[in-house]
Amino acid sequence: MKYLQGRRGFDIITLESPARSPGPGQVRVQVLACGVCGTDLHFLRQKEDYTPLGHEICARVLENGEGAVRFPPGRQVVAEDQALCGVCDACKSGRPCLCRSGPSLDGQSGMGEELVLDERLLHDAEGLDPAVAAMTEPLAVAIRCVDTLDPAPGSSLLIYGLGAIGLFCLAYARLRGVTRVVMAARDAGSRRNRASADIALDFGADGVLFTALPAFREEALRGGSYDNALVAAPPPLVPDAMGLVGYGGKVLACGVTFDARDARAELDVNAMVFEKKALLTAIAEPALQFPLALRLLRSGRIDAGRAITHRVPLVEAATLKTLFGQDSSAVKAVVVPG
Ligand SMILES: [Zn+2]
Ligand SMILES: [Zn+2]
Repeated sequence: MKYLQGRRGFDIITLESPARSPGPGQVRVQVLACGVCGTDLHFLRQKEDYTPLGHEICARVLENGEGAVRFPPGRQVVAEDQALCGVCDACKSGRPCLCRSGPSLDGQSGMGEELVLDERLLHDAEGLDPAVAAMTEPLAVAIRCVDTLDPAPGSSLLIYGLGAIGLFCLAYARLRGVTRVVMAARDAGSRRNRASADIALDFGADGVLFTALPAFREEALRGGSYDNALVAAPPPLVPDAMGLVGYGGKVLACGVTFDARDARAELDVNAMVFEKKALLTAIAEPALQFPLALRLLRSGRIDAGRAITHRVPLVEAATLKTLFGQDSSAVKAVVVPG
């Protein structure tokens, strides 16, 4: 069975290994769709060594190992990349988001033909378009971010980042009753940002602003300062966000970079203390949010398919280089068997 790995320069290779049999508690699945995540793009831009690609997975059950009974062969499922163990101190203390000992993808590439997974990673996704079902993971990440920020109904929110996470945060914040959501991205001229801005408006954004424009700050503050801001973009934008939230405002940072030069930000802690502002962080803890994400996809309350701009057959994965290695209209791509 074939699978992909990649490293910087969008150097994507296809590897081949014999199909594995599922062990006890494991399930062998055929991948039906795998989202291309910002993390995968970081690997393809910055990572020195070949790295497995893809963790936003919709698949079909092929074969159950001994004792695996949750899903019959043929059932469509989505897979968490990291599940809870349920028995460690963190899990048993009611803080499962701190669990670090549950089953995972174990280094397998979701961008491939097959996977062997612990059945505890799987959720029923029968009936959903596989590409849309593959959005369960990034939507779960967005839910975690917005729930951590905990915006009040009727509040205002500024979101930096027009990638899938920023867009899904927007859609979910709307469902939570946030009334004013403004999106910010860097460059007004980029084809990607223009395509994303259209999606953002469809998801209910009140406006899309561009930080590279001189009037950004003035335009951003036209409706007053924000109750909260969410940075689904590199860390150097965190101080900007902190400056645009008002007294008592909260900023949540969830964007990371693998380039150490972009990993730092300088904050005026005095001003934060006097203005009662808080900085929060969130990172993918999707295992906690998969059930809600799936309900929102199934009910159509979040139209995640609107964010999918490209479906790329596995054998044509090299085209990710043209889609994401340069400016294009690609926002969210999904690799399909094809
Ligand atoms: Zn992801
Ligand atoms: Zn645990």
